[in-house]
Amino acid sequence: MPNISDFKAKTVDFKPGERNVFLHLLTQCNLACRHCYINPVQHGTNILPKETALDWLRLFARPERASNLVLLGGEPTLHPDLAAIIRAAKALRYAVTVDSNGFLFHDFLERVRPEELDFLSFSLDGPYAAVNDPIRGEGVFEVCTANLRRAVALGFRTSLICTVSALNIEYLHQMPALLAELGVRRFFIQVIGLRGKSAAADANSLQVEPARWLEFVPETACQAARLGIHVTYPKVFLEPDEAFSCAGQVAENYFIFPNGRVYRCPLCEDYSIHSLRIENGQLLRRDGLNEDRFFSLRIPEGCVMNNLLQPDNIEYLPDGQPTHRISCCMLKQEIHP
Ligand code: SF4
Ligand code: SF4
Repeated sequence: MPNISDFKAKTVDFKPGERNVFLHLLTQCNLACRHCYINPVQHGTNILPKETALDWLRLFARPERASNLVLLGGEPTLHPDLAAIIRAAKALRYAVTVDSNGFLFHDFLERVRPEELDFLSFSLDGPYAAVNDPIRGEGVFEVCTANLRRAVALGFRTSLICTVSALNIEYLHQMPALLAELGVRRFFIQVIGLRGKSAAADANSLQVEPARWLEFVPETACQAARLGIHVTYPKVFLEPDEAFSCAGQVAENYFIFPNGRVYRCPLCEDYSIHSLRIENGQLLRRDGLNEDRFFSLRIPEGCVMNNLLQPDNIEYLPDGQPTHRISCCMLKQEIHP
């Protein structure tokens, strides 16, 4: 059996030419997670009609280049035409992932074949119900894990997203064993963001201190890799010799909402500063003081948006320099088993 030290996290630089399209099909959800980032005031309450969804897929498709498509919500399986949208996306040569809370509405597993989907991703925030359910809702652990088992048994490639907050970080090290037992192939560890509900009143009780993140996350990632699971987690803190770069400048990420807003940076999603919008089937650039004006700014703290939104999370040395630079939130660490 390999040692924990045999697994080393690799920083995944933004790959030139790679494209990631995150399409929010709706903002409705059957759950009310404590850290939910969905913001209907900013992103509307409409369900993207099937024909519009297909038009927008064509708008962002570049079949000659590797493009990842993540279909999400709200809860995307609440969309009655999700199976048809997945099929259309595959025909346009997207690699398609569906991010579900695990409830899998509209008989999802019966209406989509495993080979039509690159990954079916489930969200779970604890290794058992007593940790997960106070965050995601009563009974959610049982439904989510039962559907995950069904999906694996049917041959779907599955991944799992765990959003780490102060409520569950102590239990994170118990997740890899659960994932291995469930047959999950990929594990995405996310950090709680200051968006949506987590930006509201009890935000401070959810935030993870840097020392705790560094204490728990890299080691849990190594444990999962040791069990044969591919792990991805955000870089968060740059090493002194690592260069800072902003995905808004060097990568192609699109975060698309059903009201037509298109952001290049997910940290900007709570504000009306999207740099692009879809209007009459066309992708248009917006003039004015929008997110793209921030991408070229360089500050000692690293990411400008992080510094604007969460200034309290940055600690300073006596000489006024920040203790750590914060990386772009899209910069990931990966560990391959
Ligand atoms: S499942 Fe996702 S969209 Fe639904 S409430 Fe939870 S975080 Fe929000
Ligand atoms: S998180 Fe920061 S560094 Fe990354 S795209 Fe947004 S502004 Fe740029």
